[in-house]
Amino acid sequence: MSKWEENVRKVVPYVPGEQPRQEGMIKLNTNENPYPPSARAAKVLQAFEEDTLRLYPDPTAAELVNAIADTYQVNPEQVFVGVGSDDVLAMAFMTFFNSGKPILFPDITYSFYDVWAEEFRIPYERIALDEEFQIVPEQYFAENHPNGGIVFPNPNAPTGVELPLDAIESILQHNPDVAVIVDEAYVDFGAVSALPLLEKYENLLVVQTTSKSRSLAGMRIGYAIGNEKMIRYLNDVKYSFNSYTMNQITIAVGAAVFRDREYFQETVAKVVETREWAKEEFTRLGFSFGDSKANFIFVTHKAIPAKEIFQALREQHIYVRYFDKPRIDNYLRITVGTREQMQVLFDFLESYLNQER
Ligand code: PMP
Repeated sequence: MSKWEENVRKVVPYVPGEQPRQEGMIKLNTNENPYPPSARAAKVLQAFEEDTLRLYPDPTAAELVNAIADTYQVNPEQVFVGVGSDDVLAMAFMTFFNSGKPILFPDITYSFYDVWAEEFRIPYERIALDEEFQIVPEQYFAENHPNGGIVFPNPNAPTGVELPLDAIESILQHNPDVAVIVDEAYVDFGAVSALPLLEKYENLLVVQTTSKSRSLAGMRIGYAIGNEKMIRYLNDVKYSFNSYTMNQITIAVGAAVFRDREYFQETVAKVVETREWAKEEFTRLGFSFGDSKANFIFVTHKAIPAKEIFQALREQHIYVRYFDKPRIDNYLRITVGTREQMQVLFDFLESYLNQER
């Protein structure tokens, strides 16, 4: 290693799911929405005056912030926006997890958390999910596990399992002295949001995204809702990094999409309906899974190893996600696509699983 390299901030980066681009592929590997975004997105894009690109965007992204505040009936001062919820979560880790004590998150969870912790030199501890892949709230209580903060997704990823609101509240009750971040990337598909707890707990930050339920993964819009003080701290850190995180097109499209509540509800309902049907099909084919409240199902098969199924699907250009990690290396995370896409998946699985071995 050269001398200068000794002082490089070395990180092992997060590896996102692959993004194949093949004609006719069925992409069920990164939890995108199978339906297009609201038609209002196209309208904004068509009407966009490119001359305004000469100018810097609004650093406060007020148009977008206001649309989010209206959607959730909160003050605009309670809303922080970022380039996807990954950006928002990274900022939140940097802003709130500075005690030097370990932060806590589940052993099976979003695999970006430990990457940010390493990057920002935040000590961390992974708390084991129980056998049913449930978070055990008591293990997060400060008196049982002194900590410098808590973060978990609800529903959890990649399991899809929901933590009920009273369990989240118990974690907050037992952790008044640290920030508690609930990552609600998938909450719109049927879990209960922690947003109502904001009135009681000033150390709660709820993070959501437009990448899943609003079909805007390509636009990169995430947001956090918390009390004014928390959002001010987050903005201070953001402005010390990059004032213009949200570009003009993103702000305009995002605002328009939030204002189309009806389309949002319609597409979410379709995904949920397909998910519930898919659960029956998976069961029929010999899979088991935790009860998912997300737009994916985390399945394991009683006879055939997950890795083999993963490879067989890949050869058919059906992409799902496989994690070669302890406890979950016999599972596949399968995003809920359209009913037609899922039918192709099940038709293939039916013949593949029944073939002679
Ligand atoms: N949190 C969880 C639990 C996720 O699965 C994802 C998607 N990879 C994100 C946050 C980040 O999503 P985005 O940056 O697209 O908002």
